[in-house]
Amino acid sequence: MSRRSPSEVEGEAPRRHSPEDEAPRRPPRPEAELRDAIGPRISRRHSPEDWADELAASVSGPQVINDSKTPSGTVHVGSLRGPVILDVIARALRARGVQTTYLYGVDDMDPMDAQALLTPDAVERYMGAPLAHVPDQAADGHASYARHHAQTFIDTFDGLGIRPDRYYWMSEIYPTGELDRYIRLALDRAALVRDIYVRVANVRHPADWHPLHVVCERCGRVGTTIATAWDGQRVHYECRPTLVTWALGCGNSGWTSPFGGRAKLPWNLEWAAQWSLFGVTIEPCGKDLATAGGSRDRSDAIAREVFEREPPRRVAYEFLNIGGRKMSTSRGRGAAAHRIAEVVPAEQLRLLFLRPRPNQAIEFDPQGSDAIPRLFDEFDRLADATAGREVRGELPAGHASLFRYSLLDPDTDVAAEAASFRPAFGHLALLLQVPGVDIEERVAAEKGEALTTHEQAALDVRVRAARAWLDAYAPEASRLEVQRERLPASAGELDLDQRAFLARLADEAGARSPASGEDWQTLIFDVARSNGVPPRRAFEAVYRAFLGRPNGPRAGWLLASLEPGFVRERAWEASGWTVSGGPPDPIPVGG
Ligand SMILES: [Zn+2]
Ligand SMILES: [Zn+2]
Repeated sequence: MSRRSPSEVEGEAPRRHSPEDEAPRRPPRPEAELRDAIGPRISRRHSPEDWADELAASVSGPQVINDSKTPSGTVHVGSLRGPVILDVIARALRARGVQTTYLYGVDDMDPMDAQALLTPDAVERYMGAPLAHVPDQAADGHASYARHHAQTFIDTFDGLGIRPDRYYWMSEIYPTGELDRYIRLALDRAALVRDIYVRVANVRHPADWHPLHVVCERCGRVGTTIATAWDGQRVHYECRPTLVTWALGCGNSGWTSPFGGRAKLPWNLEWAAQWSLFGVTIEPCGKDLATAGGSRDRSDAIAREVFEREPPRRVAYEFLNIGGRKMSTSRGRGAAAHRIAEVVPAEQLRLLFLRPRPNQAIEFDPQGSDAIPRLFDEFDRLADATAGREVRGELPAGHASLFRYSLLDPDTDVAAEAASFRPAFGHLALLLQVPGVDIEERVAAEKGEALTTHEQAALDVRVRAARAWLDAYAPEASRLEVQRERLPASAGELDLDQRAFLARLADEAGARSPASGEDWQTLIFDVARSNGVPPRRAFEAVYRAFLGRPNGPRAGWLLASLEPGFVRERAWEASGWTVSGGPPDPIPVGG
């Protein structure tokens, strides 16, 4: 994929939301300074209750929150952090009765600059053209390349319960003439704009540079044109073959009107013009844009000095890093937002983004790890705490709002939602691997009564997610095959204390009839403790007896997924103990 460097366009960083494009001319600010840049009222706090509700408490009057994105290709899952943060801000504002408008812009007049995403015959014609004017490369019915990619992320937002009040498309805004007055201001004050670039970003444009990209009247490209003069009505522009390396200008030049969709503002100016046009009061931005002299600083200065309006409140947020392991293996699903959303259901995905405060980076490493099951467990803990059930371990600050903001529908009955029954994700992943299990029946047995319609629907979502997780991400330790036919050979390696443990476990299981994974887990710990067997060795005994290997998933949930009669028989058999008592001889095992 070709990427322009700022020098190619004489200091103009073209895209607001792609980190590669942004080359800060000064070193990035240290963390503490970045934190301060967020604004004192919403920093250093730990939960949405703190930061979003405090932000909501600090504003007065109606609020317009805005974000926008260039539909340049597939959206990385990390790109969802901004929209989720924006959604929570909107909910926090509305909860306080603040009149709130949530806007999301599609910057589809930005030029096409990614050759790899075009079919070979389209490269020559469309590199440098506005994304809105490039045909849909997938040929699946969208009006343009931009519409195709924008629709993918709009659908993903929708699945996450993120519903902006309005999506706006820059390719539709320019032709209305609504931006003409900002185009005029920018051209009238071109010298001031050039001066701002020098002061704020240390970027020096040529003396005849004007802040405008005309859509070339001959070739239709916008990424290859430079405006060199302005007479108050028309600009002079050149479509240069060598302005950028990733697209070839046609060499056309001439005078034209810059208004009504015939040109676009460079994006630092376009961003500031959006703020003025829509009256934006709050806008989050990724930390790549929040660097000193970076995009946000430039647009802030342009807003103040050129368009004479105070820029919106800045909420800077850190990235989501997909962990060290490669996401592009054949079994993995890549880091595309819509692919991850297929495995991690919406509420858990929202939680992933909301758990840390915005200025903390998120490390997410689902490949071959328990990251996804842990996300479910954390969600369930928050639900338990919200419902007043007992919860193990420490809860994050503001846990009730963390749960509430993770839910899709802001109008949900939170108490009812928290109280509804949820089977542990890890348990479902086990049940799915045990042949002949009626999952719904098992889950209802665990609950103690039939599932409600709502719980049934939630179960279906979890079952799909667990299947996808086993298919794409689960570590080997979570994949299992219960050795039902005969005692595995591995059981022959059990020591005396482990066998004694299994015999006791069989006994106690008969006496106590554990039902849930939690029950079995408690039983394993109790029996191990009372027989002086370290838990680690007790678990190993279970794994060897049932799976024929020394490790496995959570033992309590493993046993809960099997019929109790089979568990007792097998534990007894593996113990080698006899009814008449006495220490067992080494067990003869097959396999
Ligand atoms: Zn399409
Ligand atoms: Zn041209």
